[in-house]
Amino acid sequence: MNKLLFGVIVSFKKEAYIVLGTLAFILFLPLIAVVVISNAGVAAVSQALVAINPVTHLVEIFDSKGNKIDERELSTAWPIKGTITDTFGSFGGFRVNLGLGSHTAIDIGANAGTPITPFAKGKVVMVDNLGNTACGLSVRVDHGGNVESLYCHMSKTNATLQQEVKPGDVIGYVGSTGVSTGNHVHFQVNVHGIPVNPRTFMVGEPNG
Ligand SMILES: [Zn+2]
Repeated sequence: MNKLLFGVIVSFKKEAYIVLGTLAFILFLPLIAVVVISNAGVAAVSQALVAINPVTHLVEIFDSKGNKIDERELSTAWPIKGTITDTFGSFGGFRVNLGLGSHTAIDIGANAGTPITPFAKGKVVMVDNLGNTACGLSVRVDHGGNVESLYCHMSKTNATLQQEVKPGDVIGYVGSTGVSTGNHVHFQVNVHGIPVNPRTFMVGEPNG
């Protein structure tokens, strides 16, 4: 075969592998999210994507191949002070009855109108003032490094798109909008768009 042509084919193959590899990575993640999370294996996925380093006490973020891609400090800034009413990964009777998968967040109950603050600094990338989804009125914050947090069931949002926010800033207020059985905040953290255990990022308890 013509050497030049062979070289072109080889380099094309290489590129194809990179493209396919990237596609597989993108396709694989939602597959983990759907298959494993629906089978209540959320904790295993969570631990593969984010974990505390026992030596440095930093939160380490991994990609799907187990490579560390980022690290950050633990946070003491729970979104609200309150009582945990549902944990990450729970798969209780009412979830089965309602046809819901296992819980993708930590629920913290508090009085309606309690101010909600982001657990870490970041930029507001979604403000839902219509609340037509299960999440209800909600705000999503991008913390960089493929980490996002989501706060659901608000009675009122108090953030604007692209707003830079930090712990202490009020982004909304506790409510019971969307699919909710009482006043609480559904505090969800996504890594690569996949829900992980928010507790991995947090120190202490939300009840102060
Ligand atoms: Zn919840």
